[in-house]
Amino acid sequence: MSVDREKCPHDGTQAHGQGETARGWRVTALNIDIATVRGFLHAEEGAALHRHAQVAARRGPCLEIGSWCGKSAVYIGAACKAVGGILFTVDHHRGSEENQPGWEYFDETVWDEAAGAIDTLPFLRDTLRRAGLEETVIPIVGRSPVVAKHWAAPLALLFIDGGHTMEHALADWRGWARHLMPGGLLAIHDVFPDPADGGRPPFEIYRRALASDLFEEVEAVESLRILRRL
Ligand code: MG
Repeated sequence: MSVDREKCPHDGTQAHGQGETARGWRVTALNIDIATVRGFLHAEEGAALHRHAQVAARRGPCLEIGSWCGKSAVYIGAACKAVGGILFTVDHHRGSEENQPGWEYFDETVWDEAAGAIDTLPFLRDTLRRAGLEETVIPIVGRSPVVAKHWAAPLALLFIDGGHTMEHALADWRGWARHLMPGGLLAIHDVFPDPADGGRPPFEIYRRALASDLFEEVEAVESLRILRRL
């Protein structure tokens, strides 16, 4: 197994400042200082994704919606690499609503003057190069519903971490959940049961997944929920 309290399962990869999370998990297989990667993922959530991906990636491809600059792709991708798996990461790289100028999570360093828009693709590529994951994590540049419509391969793990509007969250859920293989894992980020903690759409699709009777909950870590397709 993977990330546990006792030891790191991987040999031959060097750890750089990952340390232990509060739960005592260590992700010592990341070949990059994760603190240098822009992103919005708690270390505990990254460790959980890494741990589950190590099992899932043996069964089939993993796919995430919402690459941003590659933080979660490093956690999942390192697990895939360790077991000979693969991660596809889908993003239009123009940022979500909350990343746009004037909004809460705008980062001027990812603004592309020539395009007059956000462009996080160069940052993703830089992250993957530095993490040694260019052969394992395959970026797909495009809108999630467009890619979903043409997707065919059954997925062993799906991580939904895209747009937070109801329109986008629903499109990700409707477009991608059907591509999960039986026993496949559905991970959803930014699930906040209490509206005071954050927006509702990711919680809404989490709730719908459970209400469908097609998924059971496997684990909850911070705002990350991991479900298994029955
Ligand atoms: Mg997120």
